[in-house]
Amino acid sequence: MHIESDIKLGFKDVLFRPKRSTLQSRSEVDIRRSFTFKHAEGEWTGVPVIAANMDTVGTFEMAAALAEHEMLTAVHKHYSIEQWSEFLGAQDEKIYQHIMVSTGTSEREFDKLSTLMNDFPSLRFICIDVANGYQQSFVTFISRVRAAFPSKVIVAGNVVTGEMSEELILAGADIVKVGIGPGSVCTTRVKTGVGYPQLSAIIECADAAHGLGGQIVGDGGCTCAGDVSKAFGGGADFVMLGGMLAGHDESGGERVEKESKTFVAFYGMSSDTAMNKHNGGVAKYRASEGKTVMLPYRGPVENTVQDILGGVRSTCTYVGARKLKELTKRTTFIRVNEQENRVYN
Ligand code: 5GP
Repeated sequence: MHIESDIKLGFKDVLFRPKRSTLQSRSEVDIRRSFTFKHAEGEWTGVPVIAANMDTVGTFEMAAALAEHEMLTAVHKHYSIEQWSEFLGAQDEKIYQHIMVSTGTSEREFDKLSTLMNDFPSLRFICIDVANGYQQSFVTFISRVRAAFPSKVIVAGNVVTGEMSEELILAGADIVKVGIGPGSVCTTRVKTGVGYPQLSAIIECADAAHGLGGQIVGDGGCTCAGDVSKAFGGGADFVMLGGMLAGHDESGGERVEKESKTFVAFYGMSSDTAMNKHNGGVAKYRASEGKTVMLPYRGPVENTVQDILGGVRSTCTYVGARKLKELTKRTTFIRVNEQENRVYN
């Protein structure tokens, strides 16, 4: 048995230290980024915030709404080829820059992915998602997808350590998905005792991935715009959001009226709700179960997007980053014992 005693941090453990800045207003901040990839062809430019590939978040409706802001959506894997065809047929070419096709690692899922990529060659991003990215079979699957689609951008995870990030990149991933257990409807840490504080996972995996010319996406655990900024400040190239984008018009999830208020179901992809819905087909999707919660209905996602992007822009002005790209370089985190004043909460 071994104990690592250096402190690992979550978003709630830090704040940004403000820095002198010549920026006058948050409107001067450019939160778009351009990336070239370790393996895939071409360059991508956009706002590197991704809607999670959960069936209550990564919907076609969400993809269409977020594309307007140049953001990405990892479209969940439960749409049929016919539904994909109908959706893509109704969009303009630009949508291809803003959607990822999600897949698991089964034979059936590989076949479906192949059909989709062959039918719609403009699709650019593949998101290979498993609960536990430490399995050798997962690494082998990434190499197989890389061999089949040499020019596509492959996002793969989830892992939380530098050495495994390197292994996924060497196996063919361009972008490593980082996060085990921080998700808002995730119970992995409770059920298994496994996890890693998300900010430290981001810092360590980003360092490893960048050393090889790869990128990372910080996936899970963001509860507010400040957390999204902290993920970027820690070195995340992309940030993936579930709960923060749930409960809107564009989100999936059943709606319920209760005492004249509307609530929307939001659930983990390995929760009972998801498993029942998808015929037990996703039972192995996550190492442990997820929760189901009812969120107050939040209207169109537009307002939430403005809040999140406005918050990130504002962080950049506080630390003097004219571009999101500069945020990590301009970041000094201070460790704290308190975040906001909760006297009126
Ligand atoms: P959030 O932004 O809601 O904090 O986290 C979203 C992330 O939680 C997703 O992108 C995914 O990685 C993770 N997640 C989604 N469903 C489940 C689940 O049922 N169990 C676990 N362990 N993680 C989940």
